[in-house]
Amino acid sequence: MKTAQNVDMVVVGAGFAGLRALHTLRERGLSVAVLEAGGGVGGVWYWNRYPGCRCDVESYDYSYAFSEALEQEWRWSERYAAQPEILRYAEHVVERFDLARDIHLHQRVVSASHDDGGWTVTTESADTWRARFVVMAVGQLSAPKAPDIPGLDAFAGEMYHGARFPHEAVTFAGKRVGIIGTGSTGMQMTPVVAEEAGHVAVFQRTPNFSIPACNAPISDDEDAAVKATYRERRQAAQNSPSGLGFMPTKQSALDATPAEREATFERAWTTFGFGFTLAYYDLILDQAANDLAADFIRAKIREKVEDPLLAEKLMPRGFPYGTKRPSVDCGYFEAFNRDNVSLVDIREHPIVEAVPQGIVTADSQLHALDVIVFATGFDVFTGSLLAPTITGRDGQTLREKWSQGPQTYLGLGVHGFPNLFILAGPGSPSLLSNVLLSIEQHVDWLADLLGYMHAGRIASVEPTLEAEREWVAHVKARADGTLYPKAISYYNGDDVPGKPRVFMPYVGGVRGYRRLLEECVAGGYAGWAMQPTATAKAA
Ligand code: FAD
Ligand code: NAP
Repeated sequence: MKTAQNVDMVVVGAGFAGLRALHTLRERGLSVAVLEAGGGVGGVWYWNRYPGCRCDVESYDYSYAFSEALEQEWRWSERYAAQPEILRYAEHVVERFDLARDIHLHQRVVSASHDDGGWTVTTESADTWRARFVVMAVGQLSAPKAPDIPGLDAFAGEMYHGARFPHEAVTFAGKRVGIIGTGSTGMQMTPVVAEEAGHVAVFQRTPNFSIPACNAPISDDEDAAVKATYRERRQAAQNSPSGLGFMPTKQSALDATPAEREATFERAWTTFGFGFTLAYYDLILDQAANDLAADFIRAKIREKVEDPLLAEKLMPRGFPYGTKRPSVDCGYFEAFNRDNVSLVDIREHPIVEAVPQGIVTADSQLHALDVIVFATGFDVFTGSLLAPTITGRDGQTLREKWSQGPQTYLGLGVHGFPNLFILAGPGSPSLLSNVLLSIEQHVDWLADLLGYMHAGRIASVEPTLEAEREWVAHVKARADGTLYPKAISYYNGDDVPGKPRVFMPYVGGVRGYRRLLEECVAGGYAGWAMQPTATAKAA
């Protein structure tokens, strides 16, 4: 049995959330240990090394806002930076803020248990940490889904998952590649792999909406212009619903004339990216308004894809635009005009099995392949939170507590789990937002809470059951006022069979959510039960 190491706080995960927590909370005087399962920092940008991987929130916004010096010195090369550049950025942050000395790599946390003295955190290698606080910075998209195709072991070729891509270069030259999945990952990798591969077969179950990235290099003049007004840009992001810096028009899509609407959609199409949903305020609220946006996007697909029958197959239907996470692509639909790209409609003819030569579909077709790439997604939001056994105050595990779906207060804390905090997880605007902004919002709030606890000699804090129940009901009520519940999507927990069907993120937007956080603080941390320290009790 190894000797336990003592710190004030264990942070699980060294993605953008864990790094920001380490930097900020260490600056506030806490001793912090970050435990990371992977062999490097950067979280999703460490793991997702597939060809074409890049951000879909503009680089200037998808970056830390806490340090003006960092903002000014870092030079993004493209409007939407590619994975290697974002990973370099994460590594630069680690170096610049001297974070590495408190980050422990190859340390997968397998359990965290609460007792009167705090938390005991254990890793796969049986290292044990004692800490007063635990911060779960394990990410929303960090538990890749294992492919569930019979016979995969028999496949004679190479197999990769987008979220576990090898560090060494993978060559597709001349090979027959099958890409399974048409979410953001599949849509990003298809055109890039197609440039090299002999043939690409895209296995599509559900066609998805996508907005063109209109990615471009950033000139020195553009860079200087952004950096001259970066504060204003950050403020605009913080005050916008999705953290992207722009507001929806106050007009309904239904009230605009067809010509006005076309012009608005066209502008959103070329400039908004992921924020296309904000072209009108009611696109996610009103089915008729949504239909107009969906028709606009389908018409664009029709324009892009030369074969009209193929274009039809690529068109999403049957769920409102935006309610299943749309992608932001660089030439996905156009890739189908190439001779070496074909679509396999597995809604029509599902995959039956893998065989040594490839994949067999229900129409008895063998799709001969040298490489299979899984772009089949993640156990979203709860996968990594529930993987370790987290045992709370009364011996209840988080998995038991969340058997009907995530129960949190403000997405930040869980009743029965004192001094345990979750960053950018379920119950927060994360994944409907610029997630980096949501992460920083959480860390700043947490730092202030810990300062308050220190000043007030408070030993532990946890949400009251009442506050938690109200928050869960509020998250649901807000979602029920939108079109989101209509889709089969990971937002609703539809990504994994048997997962409770609960809408997980908070649709109130980062601005509305920030106001709620501020109200909570103004109310003396309303909804949080606080236990004084022994000395405070005795005094
Ligand atoms: P992660 O980056 O997922 O980091 C969590 C870390 O925790 C991982 O390194 C993981 O190994 C570690 N971990 C998990 N469980 C354990 C454990 N038990 N023990 C130890 N370590 C553990 N969001 C946007 O807003 N804009 C984008 O453009 C964008 N692009 C994305 C592209 C891809 C390919 C993916 C997958 C996601 C993207 N996201 C994007 C969402 C992304 O999840 C967030 O933006 C953000 O990077 C999350 O940071 P995080 O630190 O919370 O989580
Ligand atoms: P995803 O959006 O969940 O898409 C998974 C795809 O795989 C879907 O098309 C799904 O089909 C399909 N699929 C899943 N299981 C399957 C099976 N057993 N057989 C056949 N098809 C199957 O996952 P993702 O594309 O990895 O993206 C996840 C999230 O990560 C994104 O929404 C985004 O938030 C983030 N991301 C962002 C970027 C970016 O642009 N910056 C890039 C990648 C990822 P169904 O729809 O029918 O289930």
